[in-house]
Amino acid sequence: MILYIEQDILENPRTQIFLDKYPRAERVIIRNYKNIFDKKIPYPIDDCMILAALHGNHITECPPWYDLYDHSFFFKTSIGCLFDCDYCYLKGAFENHTMKVFFLNYEEIQDSIRTTIQSVREKDPHGSIIFYASDYSDIQWFDILSGFNESFIPFFEQFEGVICESRTKSANISTLRSFKDAPNNFEVAFSLNPEAIIAQFEHKSASLSLRIEAINTLLDTGWKVWLRFLPLLPVPGYESMYRDFLEHVATSVDFSRVHSFSVGSLLYTKADYRVMQKKVPGFSLLYQIEQDTEDGFLRFPLPVRTYFYKLFREFLPKEKTSICLDV
Ligand code: SF4
Repeated sequence: MILYIEQDILENPRTQIFLDKYPRAERVIIRNYKNIFDKKIPYPIDDCMILAALHGNHITECPPWYDLYDHSFFFKTSIGCLFDCDYCYLKGAFENHTMKVFFLNYEEIQDSIRTTIQSVREKDPHGSIIFYASDYSDIQWFDILSGFNESFIPFFEQFEGVICESRTKSANISTLRSFKDAPNNFEVAFSLNPEAIIAQFEHKSASLSLRIEAINTLLDTGWKVWLRFLPLLPVPGYESMYRDFLEHVATSVDFSRVHSFSVGSLLYTKADYRVMQKKVPGFSLLYQIEQDTEDGFLRFPLPVRTYFYKLFREFLPKEKTSICLDV
């Protein structure tokens, strides 16, 4: 294994955690992660990590249709994912989508978040604000190394009316469980799909049963949990598969304790779709996606989305559910 380490991040205490975890890894000092990341390198990219600092571009505003919050932002502390979902948008965004880079200069990233909150509050003192953690990765699976939770959860507790959401397909909640009290401003969002879909398309991610176990453990200890039914996929027999799945989840998890729900399916830009066709030509569901759309986004046909919309409306509490299926 190779650890590529930016010169400027060598003394960061979080770097030491990686070095301790991988004492035999070859260490290569680099000037800037961009010299390595998403480049062709003569080494298996699944077997290397990049430790870096991100200067600027920490935060991106979400598109207006993204959620129901007054102000929504993504922020980055890493790029790349341990899991390998066939439909993953990282494939469209990068050449080497499995390469992993960790930005460890958390204090600088937090300064940017603080400045953003202050500027929103000057214009809208009481509006709801949400920050989505790392839109380019699933950060919970490696939190034992990155220390994101330990640093960012207390950080967000300082701000009234601000939520941080961390989305995951992992069931590894060990670092969350180490908190004495559940935080007010942090929400763990679990992406859920039927077990057969997880096995077929969400490679290396946790099984549905393990995710449900993690959800119930967090709910029992007072954590805010968000269930994300996303992306819904119209595989053969999807109508009965998703009905059985929802019945199972509804009997396994107490929906009255779940903080919020969201529902969505696949949505690609034309450019991303073309890349996906090249990279995962065997992902047969791609060929069910509609090509002629007025807004430039490609999605599954309307009857499929309408079916999903009605089904999830039937099962999920309306007041806590956001459904984004463009029906
Ligand atoms: S868990 Fe998310 S980021 Fe990771 S491969 Fe799957 S879709 Fe991509």
